[in-house]
Amino acid sequence: MVKINENYQKLQKSYLFSTIAKKVEEYQKKQPEAKIIKMGIGDVTLPIPTVVTEAIKKAAEEMAHKETFRGYGPEQGYDFLREKIMQEDYKKRGIDIQMDEIFVSDGAKCDTANFQELFSEDNIIAITDPVYPVYIDTNVMAGRTGKFLEGKYEKVVYMPLTEKNHFIPQLPKEKVDIIYLCFPNNPTGTVLNKEELKKWVDYAIQNESIILYDAAYEAFIEEENIPHSIYEIEGAKQVAVEFKSFSKTAGFTGIRCAYTVVPKEIKYDLNNMWNRRQSTKFNGTSYIVQRAAEATYSEEGKKQIQKNIAYYKENAKIILNELKKANLQAYGGINSPYIWMKCPNHMKSWDFFDLLLEKANVVGTPGVGFGPSGEGYFRLTAFNTKENTQEAMKRIQEIFK
Ligand code: PLP
Repeated sequence: MVKINENYQKLQKSYLFSTIAKKVEEYQKKQPEAKIIKMGIGDVTLPIPTVVTEAIKKAAEEMAHKETFRGYGPEQGYDFLREKIMQEDYKKRGIDIQMDEIFVSDGAKCDTANFQELFSEDNIIAITDPVYPVYIDTNVMAGRTGKFLEGKYEKVVYMPLTEKNHFIPQLPKEKVDIIYLCFPNNPTGTVLNKEELKKWVDYAIQNESIILYDAAYEAFIEEENIPHSIYEIEGAKQVAVEFKSFSKTAGFTGIRCAYTVVPKEIKYDLNNMWNRRQSTKFNGTSYIVQRAAEATYSEEGKKQIQKNIAYYKENAKIILNELKKANLQAYGGINSPYIWMKCPNHMKSWDFFDLLLEKANVVGTPGVGFGPSGEGYFRLTAFNTKENTQEAMKRIQEIFK
């Protein structure tokens, strides 16, 4: 008889997005005239730049000819893309990362999910709360978290991100082994400056911990002194793995390309281990997609990508400004497409969701869906159109002004 992985039974059912969809559908049935605006979208909406589609067409055409056809590629990614990543994302920022420290993949979701496999089951993990759920769920599956008791996994160290600590995670009092950090953060949209991030690197060096640093939203950073890479911090190469993605940077959520940096000088021989893991379990990102990713680094590619990001960032500014005018507290949104607002009058996240849906026909994401410390908060995103964003804010103002 087969024994299944019982850790899967410890997973909490994620009702978040299905409950939202159900509530919206029911409301729309009751009020067919209502023009609902969705501000909960966590996906890009603008079409991909034409330099990228041109690169895709060209690469597809190469596949059609004997001389240029390609089969399996290197599991770690083609040199033409790794070279561009090394130069453009690291060397130009004064960071010395080598090509064999870069592993191209088909998404930061799978990389952030899979990396924990390299560590034994009895490591203590630390996550921020609220959090991108992939980090916690994959550790549950691996049997590293213990049981779910009173809203939390018993063996996990939760680091709250709240108004009180300005959404800056505090160093754990206990010793932790694997630390997940995501900045600019999903869902709060807040960032860590270099001094704050340095505390984590120092902690990891002192405690022989490893930091798994998710920088999927790095392209949205505009303020000075906010690190674009954890390797801007001295010593980080000994203790940090970095995940980056073309998804939000270049609109690749449907094309799929990302990369993970595992420095050779990192502790525990993780570079070799990840290489071994990828060579065994992953057969490379498609040639066509890697050519598409390469095109994002051309002069024209950079220009087009920046234009899209600027569009989302303008939406984020509109949201922040308009919420402020309505006397609502809001955070994030400056170096991020996410705005994390405080529900007014001590409302709970889901009550505020219902109120906004019914009174403004605006949909967002209840903060409590990202972790217990998200209760009383609400996430709005900048991925809708400018017109819809303006209209949604007008409606919210009418309720709260
Ligand atoms: N990391 C964070 C924090 C995210 O919010 C997301 C997607 O929403 C991802 C990673 C997934 O990235 P990818 O599309 O490269 O799998």
